[in-house]
Amino acid sequence: MSKTKIRCNTCGKWFQSANAKEVTCPDCLQKARKEKMAAKAAPPSAGKAATATATSAALVDPEAIAKAITVAPAVIARAIIAALLPTA
Ligand SMILES: [Zn+2]
Repeated sequence: MSKTKIRCNTCGKWFQSANAKEVTCPDCLQKARKEKMAAKAAPPSAGKAATATATSAALVDPEAIAKAITVAPAVIARAIIAALLPTA
């Protein structure tokens, strides 16, 4: 496979990649991956507002569901639907 010279979208450095669609150099990719992992490892309280929308689908609050069960069956149904269809 021939390598293509590509300019990094992030730092502007030239690099070679077999994937012509690549727009980020390996350095920036590694940096981005590290930041992603750091964000994942960080406590939920840190940057909660920023990540709330992105992770809300994965974080179904069991307390909220328990509370809903004591309120009304319609609310339970809504909570289940909300858990199954986070985008709805
Ligand atoms: Zn770069």
